Amino acid sequence: MNPSLLGNPFAFKDTRLCLTKKVAKRLLAEAQEAFPDEYSALLYGKGATISGHIPMPAHTADAHSFRWDGPSFLAGLRHIHEAGQEWLGVLHSHPSTPPLPSAKDEQGWHYPTLSYWILGLSTRDPEWKVYRWENEGFSECAYLLADCT
Ligand SMILES: [Zn+2]
Repeated sequence: MNPSLLGNPFAFKDTRLCLTKKVAKRLLAEAQEAFPDEYSALLYGKGATISGHIPMPAHTADAHSFRWDGPSFLAGLRHIHEAGQEWLGVLHSHPSTPPLPSAKDEQGWHYPTLSYWILGLSTRDPEWKVYRWENEGFSECAYLLADCT
């Protein structure tokens, strides 16, 4: 993995991880469109701000974890790199369960600097949660939903 590609969105003491409203809106629309199937996407941007996303194909999501060697995953990373952006995290939806990391989620994630988003669609209002992998487990993190630049 190219080290300059891998972002560290939690590294900024005075800047909270931020998801831009524009990206959040599109993620939600695409996740609802994929319902009742799971939806997943790569998230990118600069520093602590997520300003773009790349949807991953449904067959990747079916495995309920990202296939890190999958061609679409690698193509996504190349796209992020060529755009001069940093890979800041991943998102997937839980169409019928709460947005808590599953055992498979825990087994499939090994990028402690990145953000791990789960969008829960089982409730009337969608639930956004973001986690960070630290000390051998996921811990929930705070984030900002804003028009951050
Ligand atoms: Zn999951």
